[in-house]
Amino acid sequence: MSTKSQLEHLGLFDARVPRYTSYPTAPHFTPAVDETTYRGWISSITGHESISLYLHVPFCRRLCWFCACRTQGTQSDAPVRAYVETLLAELEMLRKALPEGIRLSRLHWGRHADAAGARPRHAACGCGPCRLSSGRRCRVLGRDRPQRNRRPRMEALAAAGLTRASIGVQDFDPEIQKTIGREQSFEVTARAVDLVRAHGIASLNADILFGLPGQDHEKIAQTVQKLLALSPDRVALYGYAHVPWVARRQVMIPPESLPAPRDRLALFEVARALFVADGYVEIGIDHFARPGDGLAQAQRDKRLRRNFQGYTDDAAQVLIGLGASSISRFPQGYAQNAPATGAHSGAIREGRFSVSRGHVFTPEDLWRARMIEALMCDFAVDFAALRRDFGLDDSAIAAAVAPISARFRDMVELSRDRLEITPEGRPLVRMIAQMLDRYDAPALSHSTAI
Ligand code: SF4
Repeated sequence: MSTKSQLEHLGLFDARVPRYTSYPTAPHFTPAVDETTYRGWISSITGHESISLYLHVPFCRRLCWFCACRTQGTQSDAPVRAYVETLLAELEMLRKALPEGIRLSRLHWGRHADAAGARPRHAACGCGPCRLSSGRRCRVLGRDRPQRNRRPRMEALAAAGLTRASIGVQDFDPEIQKTIGREQSFEVTARAVDLVRAHGIASLNADILFGLPGQDHEKIAQTVQKLLALSPDRVALYGYAHVPWVARRQVMIPPESLPAPRDRLALFEVARALFVADGYVEIGIDHFARPGDGLAQAQRDKRLRRNFQGYTDDAAQVLIGLGASSISRFPQGYAQNAPATGAHSGAIREGRFSVSRGHVFTPEDLWRARMIEALMCDFAVDFAALRRDFGLDDSAIAAAVAPISARFRDMVELSRDRLEITPEGRPLVRMIAQMLDRYDAPALSHSTAI
């Protein structure tokens, strides 16, 4: 049986599974976590710790049809300015709640996908984010379309210490761009790249999508080759997730124009082969990086992690989300802000954090989360580390992995110390991870497994 037939036989082309940017995933959060819980977790942060911040900015000038981000279109600056005031007030509340001496590891700005939605936040947007890095290891991720990356803005960002920019491409084919409601020529993107490089920003990221309407092998190859001409340091190659029950604007995209799941895998393989041939290192399930890039280094050093930003080399144990619907991660659990901007802003005006739900980790959550993250990052789980860090015994590990070896026998290698997914089995990684998930059941509301 060919590898593709084996993958089909194992259900890859029918499965809908989480992307595992968290465990448990956000749809399983409950109101058990509230502002009191959140304040307790903040107060347990020690003064010498590094934390990261994420600021959710849910406004776009125009909404792209393909996008599943939690965002709203506005032509007026007024709601954005009001929201910025809320963010500033929330930041000030957080500053007062944090102990002295906290160091900032990363600062991300962006728009994230709905809980059940498409891709990791930030990545879900892919519309010209800019990352700022200063000597204080502070990094800011902002997002906008390259059309709007005008010179004064870039000058301001460069003056603030911008060292990395990321351009949202999706696909360079004009017909595909029309169908997904996001028209942005190669020349516009190339000018944005020139602009960021002219301002001394040496590191460039780019996001492209496979599985778009009307996309075929030739079109995705052309897009990748054009992208390679821009020589990004890092590329995210995400599968387009058609989830109109999550993102209503996707109803504008005719489902019959979408490639079948089997063809999506082939599109990914076409793009993947071109990046690898050009010297990029594969990172996890959907990233490619130049060998000197931070993600490639983190992967080599076994420091690669996965969080709501997707893959990261950020070592901070605490990520605090600000703004409506933002999710924070603490060693104790997750806390999510009120999803609606009105409810969030109202709480901040009253001097309250708007946390409305979340999840408190059980000891079992922590080791299952570690296993899932290891699979998503390294395609392997080190059992010795589980024994050492969580005191798990062999029988608990064997019970956890037994369903995997039973269902995916030919796609994994299992020994006393390790579970490893074979290269042929890597497209199945989210399905394999789901077998470790005690909360999730196979559900149609997720995006497709490939
Ligand atoms: S891709 Fe970016 S600009 Fe387009 S709707 Fe999504 S967040 Fe807004």
